[in-house]
Amino acid sequence: MNALIKAAALCAMMTLLVSCGGNDSAQGHNSGQISAGQEASAQQKVYNWKLVTTWPKNFPGLGVAPENFAKLVDRMSNGRLKVKVYAAGEIVPALEVFSAVSNGTAEMGHGAAYYWKGKMPAAPLFTSVPFGLNAQEMNGWLYHGGGLELWRELYAPYNLVPMPAGNTGIQMGGWFNKELNTIADFKGLKMRIPGLGGEVFTRAGGTAVNMPGGEIYTSLQTGVIDAAEWVAPYNDLAFGFNNVAKYYYYPGWHEPGPTIELIINKEAYQTLPDDLVAIVESAARTINQDMLDEYTSRNNAALKMLKEKGVEIRRYPDEVWNVLRETTKAVMEENANKDEMFKKVYASYDAYRKSVNAYHQISERAYYDMRD
Ligand code: CA
Repeated sequence: MNALIKAAALCAMMTLLVSCGGNDSAQGHNSGQISAGQEASAQQKVYNWKLVTTWPKNFPGLGVAPENFAKLVDRMSNGRLKVKVYAAGEIVPALEVFSAVSNGTAEMGHGAAYYWKGKMPAAPLFTSVPFGLNAQEMNGWLYHGGGLELWRELYAPYNLVPMPAGNTGIQMGGWFNKELNTIADFKGLKMRIPGLGGEVFTRAGGTAVNMPGGEIYTSLQTGVIDAAEWVAPYNDLAFGFNNVAKYYYYPGWHEPGPTIELIINKEAYQTLPDDLVAIVESAARTINQDMLDEYTSRNNAALKMLKEKGVEIRRYPDEVWNVLRETTKAVMEENANKDEMFKKVYASYDAYRKSVNAYHQISERAYYDMRD
């Protein structure tokens, strides 16, 4: 934890330096909107904010990240910004987090953009795209490739400022109770799989269902769904999916590096003095990286334990993989033709994917192939 706090403090300093240089256009921030007198009183004020999440209380990785965020913000602001974290269902149900922060019921929310696909077709592009960017590449696109500006443009009409606040790294392909040999095995299968991956799954013959993590186990157990993807070994073991499903498929074609989001009510954000804005952005960036680091470390022991418990780890057959990849192309094109913002965001995303792929083929991929 000490290392985390130090990193956050350093990050805060760096962000402040950037702000001093005037390069804060992408930071959604607000200097100039409050007077010097207001700024002085804002420096004394203690802000008590609520942060609602889509996760179960203290859930490993995903649910702990907003708690870490709140602790960091408290320490970095010397107690001037207090953030109280609420699990899914404590103030609002998981899938109402977006609306609750948009209308000011809570000042902040932590979840995933693809849960809001029904409101904004382009939202899932800021979580994960099937066969798209991995975690490292998502961060590159969002922070240095124009992604964050587009994300803020998309959420602005909803009175929200989004930012990256976690990434699980590449996920697993999901839990099944029957073997997958051909794409025909998807037929009639009801699977919990949100976002664009869900659209592809449905197009490939299955039926995609979106439900929060906390409902998956019972739904699998009672047969409400036949299959489910959640995250990766660390989280899937925590939920005990190995007790209700036999086969664990890899890799997670549908979520190669999903970004987790922090959303902030824009009006509330504009009341914060400049230094607290910098602290919020820095703490978000710290948990964004820390979550990925945690998954990178903890998935390994969890995978070993799942194997020891008798879970059958299976690779998606090439035939299934090839159909999913081609179906993804059709789904992306169709979405782009239906929605202007989807088209605009995906143009940026896809151009970035192509450019980063050219280099990662001869760096990351070449290295993994050679390592052993
Ligand atoms: Ca997932």
